[in-house]
Amino acid sequence: MSQSAAQPPFQIQIVPVTPFQQNCSIIRAASGAAAIVDPGGEPDKLMAAAEEMDAKIEKIWLTHGHLDHAGAAKEIKRRTGAIIEGPQEEEVFWLDQIEESWKKYGWEGGEDVRPDRWLDDTSEVELDGIKFGVAWCPGHTPGHVVFHSTEYKIAFVGDVIFQGSIGRTDFPRGNHQQLLDSIVDKLWPLGDEMRFVPGHGGISTFGAERKNNPFVADHVLRK
Ligand SMILES: [Zn+2]
Repeated sequence: MSQSAAQPPFQIQIVPVTPFQQNCSIIRAASGAAAIVDPGGEPDKLMAAAEEMDAKIEKIWLTHGHLDHAGAAKEIKRRTGAIIEGPQEEEVFWLDQIEESWKKYGWEGGEDVRPDRWLDDTSEVELDGIKFGVAWCPGHTPGHVVFHSTEYKIAFVGDVIFQGSIGRTDFPRGNHQQLLDSIVDKLWPLGDEMRFVPGHGGISTFGAERKNNPFVADHVLRK
């Protein structure tokens, strides 16, 4: 971790949800105002975690429309009155089939959802005065976005990149080359010191992935 990163004025709790163990993040500002990133399921568990942190959820930020990332967004909105921001508008066909997708996995409790606000590369989202940038990173899904703070060196990347791996691209409208381009053109410029919370698995940094990731390390892409 960088010595130069400013101490963030927020705390982050990661709560894995759904049978896919998706990393839902609760970001709580000092005032108690909170944003929840990718509430994919298990709203009771998420609300209990928020209560434990004394966090008041005001924003719901969605990286993409897959069932395990967006399945509980509508229910969290219902319970908190929070507004839903993201993903980018191309994602609508995934957001419209959450319920149907969950049925295929035999798991109840996901709902289709539409955000209050679509996002793109020019967008910013804000929690209690703390601004996060938005990067549109298609490839895993066409409307996937990433939320990032270069000031506090933290990003929430959904299923774009993982520690040691990258997102699947074998879904409808997935595109492997587009995903690689998103990572190299949109994420790497944010800096090697950026820590990131992926949709699944452990936290890493962009710098570590540029060294070691078998799909997108600099020495792999140069070949
Ligand atoms: Zn996904």
